[in-house]
Amino acid sequence: MITLEEAFTIVTSDLPRTGIEVIDFRMATGRVLAEDIFSDMDMPPFDKSAVDGYACRRSDIGSTMRLLEVIAAGKLPTRRIEPGTCSKIMTGAMLPENADCVVMVEQTSENDSMVTVTDQKTKNNIAYCAEDLKKGALVISEETLLQPQHIAVLASVGAVKPKVFKKVKICVFSTGDELVEPDEVPETSKIRNSNGSQLVSQAVRMGAEVEYGGIVPDNEDITREKLVEAFQIHDVIILSGGISMGDFDYIPKILNELQVNTLIRSIAVQPGKPTVFARSGNKFVFALPGNPVSSFNIFEILAKPFIYRLMGHHWQPLILRLPISETFIRKGTARLGFVPATIKPDGSVKALIYNGSAHINALVTANALISIPLGIASVTKGELVDVRLI
Ligand code: AMP
Ligand code: MG
Repeated sequence: MITLEEAFTIVTSDLPRTGIEVIDFRMATGRVLAEDIFSDMDMPPFDKSAVDGYACRRSDIGSTMRLLEVIAAGKLPTRRIEPGTCSKIMTGAMLPENADCVVMVEQTSENDSMVTVTDQKTKNNIAYCAEDLKKGALVISEETLLQPQHIAVLASVGAVKPKVFKKVKICVFSTGDELVEPDEVPETSKIRNSNGSQLVSQAVRMGAEVEYGGIVPDNEDITREKLVEAFQIHDVIILSGGISMGDFDYIPKILNELQVNTLIRSIAVQPGKPTVFARSGNKFVFALPGNPVSSFNIFEILAKPFIYRLMGHHWQPLILRLPISETFIRKGTARLGFVPATIKPDGSVKALIYNGSAHINALVTANALISIPLGIASVTKGELVDVRLI
């Protein structure tokens, strides 16, 4: 049994990255940038008004000014501001020549094309050329996971065809003779396959290209065939079940036969101890425990950073330190515990009660995982705990 840190190092070391492709920037949400993006212009590209008001000379503010023109956003001013004159200007419009200040419309009165400033304390209200960004400046770095705000920046610098890393190709299998697909009604002794869809959903949410390979029966030959077949197309195979100590847990043996090098067999985490990570060249197998809470947990804490790195992004979990809302006690302390939890509106975190790692329903209101360090059996109400968003 190795620690989570050791497992993290193994799954994130010496990884290849997927190839690079050029895509439309509108489709790039959730993709990882494969190039640095630079601004192709100053921003703002010209001095512009930050308010609706009157552009004038600050030295004229005490006297009545003659209105020259109205400058709409997107239009060029045609008149230069001379002493004793002003131009009405809209937010975002280009400042006329010789103006050094814009008085907000609310602080003025206009009568017969003559403008008086009623409140003489005014800021300049000008967004100056290049104050946000200089032409040629780095705006988004390679390896950034693109979110809506990045899409806006790509749009603003005209980077409409960014290079991004290709999606990782993942195949998800569920092993177990007891499983039936979710659209079937299980007969006695069977259960619905919930892991398969959960893992597909977790991988899809990360922007991977995921195929669901179906339920694989607890049969050595069929399992071997399925793995060999999936390796032809996919970079990563994610399996659930079949790695414990049961009579029909064949996965470790088959990986060995296929000369896929098993690098992890079990991890000191709870839930999710029986986890297998294996590698053959640039093909990988993640075999997760069959219990749905365990499989969810291991995907979050290990498969996720691994898959992001294959796609070029150095993902790290966001860990918050929050007070726990009720005293929490656990039995064993030999493993790093992960407890599904809800972050409450008051900023505290509530550990969710769950019966065991099959109790997936407990996760319905979970938005986080609390981690309880090795050797710690209890946390008192109000104590700070590490909380990872999911
Ligand atoms: P295993 O790791 O194959 O020994 O399975 C451990 C437990 O998880 C057993 O109770 C299985 O029935 C259950 N289990 C395995 N695979 C799934 C699955 N795909 N969906 C829901 N439960 C599962
Ligand atoms: Mg099984």
